[in-house]
Amino acid sequence: MIELISVSYGYNDSEDVISDISLTINDGEFLAIVGHNGSGKSTVAKHLNGLLLPRSGQVYVNGLLTSDEESILTIRQNVGMVFQNPDNQIVTTVVEEDVGFGPENLGIETPKIWERVDEALELVGMTEFRKRAPHMLSGGQKQRLAIAGVLAMHPSIIVFDEATAMLDPKGREDVIAIMKDLHAAGKTIVMITQHMEEVLLSDRVIVMNAGRIAMDGTPTQIFENADKLRSMGLDVPLPVAIRDKLNASGMNIPASVLTLDSLADEIEKRLSR
Ligand code: ADP
Repeated sequence: MIELISVSYGYNDSEDVISDISLTINDGEFLAIVGHNGSGKSTVAKHLNGLLLPRSGQVYVNGLLTSDEESILTIRQNVGMVFQNPDNQIVTTVVEEDVGFGPENLGIETPKIWERVDEALELVGMTEFRKRAPHMLSGGQKQRLAIAGVLAMHPSIIVFDEATAMLDPKGREDVIAIMKDLHAAGKTIVMITQHMEEVLLSDRVIVMNAGRIAMDGTPTQIFENADKLRSMGLDVPLPVAIRDKLNASGMNIPASVLTLDSLADEIEKRLSR
């Protein structure tokens, strides 16, 4: 669905901040991208819908080249982006108008716009707030509004660039639930996150380090290598850290155990034995 071929990019005249990134994102995949601050995650994300164009290499989205000017509108409609700060993503003064802004710009006829607005607000649980002023909403509600605005464009791929970073726990939980629902409904999800627990939502994880892809695997495979992650300034989720400590003292809990529930089950089995 998205293919990056040996992509490098640098801002202004600077050295490359991402180098030789080759990556295929498959239809229906839930891909997490992690890495310490400045490792190049956002720069990669902005290549997925042509917000940035490679200095060298190519990016294809459903067969269309992002550097091809004639394809860019189709690509932007197809790859929605949700950013960290919801305030920067709000453009009007009424919730429902904000959601309709994107489809209106696509030139869609008014009755169809309202159908999309209704559907998108419903999907993010914001229908009851449709007449409100966006600036009166909580951070989590604003972010759900931003997601609705993206959904109203009917994208097949949605990129969440640290979309939960500025939210309180409730707001985070709501946005995570929406990501799960969208993935279950068949959307392709790319999630950039600093929260290692969120990585467990994904099918596949890319670890970025110093502008390159350092690791690529399932969450189980990635978290088998806690030392390597730590060497790149990253941590493992708490249950994995506990698992590794127990295993170091001889417990032998399988690598597939990543959550507190499954860890508790494994310990209980051994205790009852
Ligand atoms: P991450 O998302 O992993 O934190 P970024 O892709 O934002 O990493 O940044 C990668 C590198 O590019 C960093 O060194 C950062 O300082 C630099 N950078 C990011 N955005 C800009 C910009 N708009 N202008 C100049 N340098 C930038």
